[in-house]
Amino acid sequence: MSAIKPVRGTHDLIGEDQRRHAHVVATARRVTALYGFEEWATPIFEETGVFARSLGDTSDVVSKEMYTFTDRGGDSLTLRPEGTAAVCRALVTNGLTQSLPQKVFYTGPMFRYERPQKGRYRQFHQIGAELIGPGEPLADAEAIRMGHDVLAALGIAENVLLELNTLGDVESRAAWRAALVEYFSAFRDRLSEDSQNRLERNPLRILDSKAPEDRALLADAPVLASYLNDASRQFWDELRNALTLFGVAFTENPNIVRGLDYYSHTAFEFVTTQLGTQGTVLAGGRYDGLVAEMGGPKTPAIGWAGGIERLAMLLEAAPAVTRPVAIIPLGDAAQAVAIKALNTLRSADIRAEMAYRGNLKKRMERANRTGASHVVIIGENEVAKGVVQLRDLSSGEQVELPEVALVETLKAAGAGRQA
Ligand code: ATP
Ligand code: MG
Repeated sequence: MSAIKPVRGTHDLIGEDQRRHAHVVATARRVTALYGFEEWATPIFEETGVFARSLGDTSDVVSKEMYTFTDRGGDSLTLRPEGTAAVCRALVTNGLTQSLPQKVFYTGPMFRYERPQKGRYRQFHQIGAELIGPGEPLADAEAIRMGHDVLAALGIAENVLLELNTLGDVESRAAWRAALVEYFSAFRDRLSEDSQNRLERNPLRILDSKAPEDRALLADAPVLASYLNDASRQFWDELRNALTLFGVAFTENPNIVRGLDYYSHTAFEFVTTQLGTQGTVLAGGRYDGLVAEMGGPKTPAIGWAGGIERLAMLLEAAPAVTRPVAIIPLGDAAQAVAIKALNTLRSADIRAEMAYRGNLKKRMERANRTGASHVVIIGENEVAKGVVQLRDLSSGEQVELPEVALVETLKAAGAGRQA
């Protein structure tokens, strides 16, 4: 049998990797709660139609990235490639379309069959937020400000730029689409093979292409701004005003079209130059048609998702772990006292650990390896006197104190707090 290995494009989260990951999630959860968002958890897999229908047949995700399989009952299921469609499905199937607004935060793994590289995996993880109900540009601006606040709380806002675009409404996009087809048709031979196909099926997608030969043609391509109808133009103006009200800086980028079909009006990406071509760390837009796609009433909504792996890579430092207190009993009588002390410290929210064997030297070495802030040494003498020896490993100072004073003394010394 060949050696067992992880599936290509997946990774284990262990040690510092997991700490970074958990910090991103905890931070996003805390910040979105400040905006009144509540966490939802939807299943990892859905009926294939949930994604195939809503994301668009010609989107890269649906046409070549989905993990779709037939289960033993013959149903076609798909591992979720993103969270928004699933949240809208859940909104409808839980009968919540009449209880708007719904402010939803979610986090978890997503699955896309992509070419793995730095910042791009087949199982990756997202944080995401959906503000379902309001159709006003103020809602878009507030959701974007919330995304900005998550980045700021992670300490990476300074290295990230907000790029903003409008996709207009359906009517405006139809006019623009016709202009794009005319423009790119003139350069058909110079387009990548993928984009030649896109030209027929979904020319907007060419603007999102990463192929250099396509990108070379983008500079002179028609821009949607010239095709916006009055309603779309007004939304776009109000959005930019609202962002200013919320104090969010942005640059306009007409090439932001987003990878999925369900967006209208607002599209945005927070981008860093620090991760090469995988520079988009948090992105989203308005999707006023999606809830209706899921069989609900027409319901406006705006949301975003952030890639946890990419955000975790940008963190300045890995979050620290709490330093433990090591308990060291010497002799059988001390063992019972030591276990009692372990229970007491943990009940008092102090991280405490005890090795099961070894002499004093071995146990001291182990305490140092685990980064312990203090050791508590309990020998036969200490048991007899009802005291313990407490050594501060940073200063080397050792004091004898009554066993009952241990928690209080450690708390006063700051033990059990984040380093
Ligand atoms: P990209 O243009 O990088 O492929 P996307 O437009 O497909 O991104 P979205 O569907 O908007 O991405 O997902 C939101 C975020 O999730 C992205 O900005 C990115 O940070 C992250 N993300 C998307 N796909 C992957 C992946 N395969 N591996 C890691 N992170 C990803
Ligand atoms: Mg993609």
